[in-house]
Amino acid sequence: MRGAVLYAPKQPLVIEQFDLPDIAPDQVRVRLVASGVCHSDYHVIKGDWPHIPVPTILGHEGAGIVEEVGDKVGGVQAGDPVILSWKRNCGLCEMCQRGYPNLCDALPDARGLPRLRDQTGSMNKMLGLGTFSTETIVPAEVVIPIDRDIPLQQAALVGCGVMTGVGAVINTAQVQPGMSVAVFGCGGVGLNCIQGAALAGAEPIIAVDIHAGKLERAQQFGATHTVNAKEVDPVAAIQEITGGPGVHYAFEAIGMTAEPFVQSILCTRKRGVTVFVGHAPFNTPLNLDARILMPEKMVIGSMYGSARPRVDFPRLLRLYQAGKLKLDELVTRVYPLEQVNDAFAALAAGEVARSVLELT
Ligand SMILES: [Zn+2]
Ligand SMILES: [Zn+2]
Repeated sequence: MRGAVLYAPKQPLVIEQFDLPDIAPDQVRVRLVASGVCHSDYHVIKGDWPHIPVPTILGHEGAGIVEEVGDKVGGVQAGDPVILSWKRNCGLCEMCQRGYPNLCDALPDARGLPRLRDQTGSMNKMLGLGTFSTETIVPAEVVIPIDRDIPLQQAALVGCGVMTGVGAVINTAQVQPGMSVAVFGCGGVGLNCIQGAALAGAEPIIAVDIHAGKLERAQQFGATHTVNAKEVDPVAAIQEITGGPGVHYAFEAIGMTAEPFVQSILCTRKRGVTVFVGHAPFNTPLNLDARILMPEKMVIGSMYGSARPRVDFPRLLRLYQAGKLKLDELVTRVYPLEQVNDAFAALAAGEVARSVLELT
């Protein structure tokens, strides 16, 4: 199989040939068809995430076709179309049992790793998946079967960006109809926060970004108002749009600098809820008057949109099939695996909602 390897931060990815080991009884081998190019992979390339070891095959937002299942695997068989979840869950720990498998402590499977052809030693895979490759071996619990008639390029995006953004709104925050929402950042995840807010019946839905093009796209996904934070103070603008008090819910979906995190707290009303969706760089202090939370304001993180993949992936795909969730519109560009570095250049330039790699 072929895979795109990051050997060191700030280096271009290199396409390599690999051999795969035999699968274990509790594993599944998947022929990958499509992988989204997510900002998290870009964090690793930039060197922001030292906890992800390199060299590694990047990619964690994938869909494909099951090729082979281990003897002990049930519920999925060769030929089934599937989406991969990047979070393992043991099913037994406190968080799993309480309904938060997204917070399970189980680590990525260290088995089934590919080996560079003609070399010894194994290659890491981003979050245990390594979807920038033509095949991967994963534990059965992260393999989620889907309907046959769903296009796999669109399905792949449900595996990270769509789940993360929509899930932050409908699972983590549980926004109710008629509540006001502000979303900071209109990239791949922010657009999904916006369409999650539209699905929840929020009103108004205020999109904040510094790129006019992204704000235009946000309107396609359900934003009722746009605020260009390069031109105006977004907190004041949000207060004005809501007639003074600020929004019921704010989502930070940028994850680059401290300022939007702070603004996403300042722009909510009393009892307002701020959800941190973006992954801030390590050691990002927030400069905030502690009294700001006194009017019973709340701040919560959202990890993978509080995903319960076996419930939420099919749920999101039902909404797509019913025409209520936009996935076609998210797939802005399609690249072959060999052009993975071009896909990251487009991501860095803010040119795309999502690029997808076509793997077979
Ligand atoms: Zn667990
Ligand atoms: Zn991702």
